[in-house]
Amino acid sequence: MAANNYPPTLNRGRRSWLQLGLGAGALSLVPAALGAQQSSARIVIVGAGAAGLAIANRLSRALRGARLTLVGARQAHHYQPGFTLIASGLWQPHRVLTQTRDWLPADLQWIDADASAFDPQRRQVSLTSGQTLDYDLLVVASGCQLNYDEIEGMSADRVGRDGIGSVYAGPDKASATNAAFEELLRKGEGRALFTLCDTPLKCAGAPLKMTFTSLSRLEASGRRAAFDVGFVTPFEQQVFAVPVYNQFVLQRWQEQQLTLLDQRRLTAIDPGARQAQFTRPDGSHAVESYDYLHLVPPMSAPDVVRRSELAWQQGPFAGQWLEVDQYTLQHRRYPEIFGIGDVVGTPFGKTAASVKKQAPVVEQNILDYLAGREPSAHYNGYTSCPLITSIGRAMLAEFGYGGELMPTFPFISPTEESWAVWVMKEKMLQPAYYAMLEGRV
Ligand SMILES: Cc1cc2nc3c(=O)[nH]c(=O)nc-3n(C[C@H](O)[C@H](O)[C@H](O)COP(=O)(O)OP(=O)(O)OC[C@H]3O[C@@H](n4cnc5c(N)ncnc54)[C@H](O)[C@@H]3O)c2cc1C
Repeated sequence: MAANNYPPTLNRGRRSWLQLGLGAGALSLVPAALGAQQSSARIVIVGAGAAGLAIANRLSRALRGARLTLVGARQAHHYQPGFTLIASGLWQPHRVLTQTRDWLPADLQWIDADASAFDPQRRQVSLTSGQTLDYDLLVVASGCQLNYDEIEGMSADRVGRDGIGSVYAGPDKASATNAAFEELLRKGEGRALFTLCDTPLKCAGAPLKMTFTSLSRLEASGRRAAFDVGFVTPFEQQVFAVPVYNQFVLQRWQEQQLTLLDQRRLTAIDPGARQAQFTRPDGSHAVESYDYLHLVPPMSAPDVVRRSELAWQQGPFAGQWLEVDQYTLQHRRYPEIFGIGDVVGTPFGKTAASVKKQAPVVEQNILDYLAGREPSAHYNGYTSCPLITSIGRAMLAEFGYGGELMPTFPFISPTEESWAVWVMKEKMLQPAYYAMLEGRV
């Protein structure tokens, strides 16, 4: 698939919403079997990652006549669930790389610039290219921002140097994380610390997976006893929000002689001295030395979202994440705006598997909105990740709002590790992910 030269929607005069609504409403009476819903809406999607591409492909199929514009500067598309495999020395970076243009539907205009400001009153998005786009409907799919700079002394370019690993900032950084860990393995002894941030994060299982694969590699080196391994969490005896998985992980780590340091948030590093400073809830500090440090940056919606009127105004996500209804994924104050993917401020939902469940909900609710109906589809918070428990074994963690377990397969227990789930993670999820980008699942 390739982008075409669909006429641009820049600064067109806004058409009457009534006209658009009535037109779409009348045409929505056409039987579904006859195909797509007619609409002349100008739809702007911000973010060309997993969520933006999935909803773009779905809307391209579901609507006839709508003008779809996708905004996102990144040329390369990253299959992020592969990052933990790269950082664990199992995959090469090229395995997670494709091009954004490869996933675009034919009837969509792609603008390879980023959004720089939102004006929801005027229904406009400004771009880093200097353009301004008018929209009738906006989908915000701009993912997570990695706030490394909130850790004093840290920046993304430090990953891979001075014993610092961090799996998040792209395939090259995942590879550099592996290189830093290999340095520890070569040394044959030392202290490895793994951290967790206190903000919501994408793939909350990733810090645990990195710890488990690293433990496997230390055990395989034959020198496990020469390494001191610790996990530092900001929370009290908690490393994962769903109790059954939290208990499993803490128990397993105890068996593996890992030390849990709790109620400590990483606030500063001194890379030269290989020391990390943690802050306790009472404001006091603790300094820990390390030979290898795997750190998780605090995360938020990108600045352009969190500093805009689109962000939550109050509550736990205030000023950090996109304000949407957690079930309909429609903005709570601007009904012509929807959110999807990591950017949304909902209790759960920051995995690609969540995007797979969110995309049909957002698609249906957009069709409803364009047809003048109330949103009819609900997202239940479904989140899933194959929680790698060692190299060669994993557990398919699947849950939703309230921490309810939501197993998909009757033959896979959501609380048991197996080789089959490892194979699923290593071999089967990537094709399923690409089918999701195409809007086919
Ligand atoms: C290490 C790691 C392991 C993971 N493991 C798993 C797993 O096992 N299973 C699973 O389901 N999920 C996993 N995930 C999570 C999954 O990759 C994300 O949840 C998913 O990519 C979310 O899609 P998204 O479109 O919201 O964000 P992204 O895919 O990150 O895309 C966001 C896009 O928005 C763009 N953007 C940012 N700012 C702007 C702007 N101002 N204007 C326009 N565009 C902008 C970005 O450049 C990017 O292209 C993992 C993630 C990581 C990092």
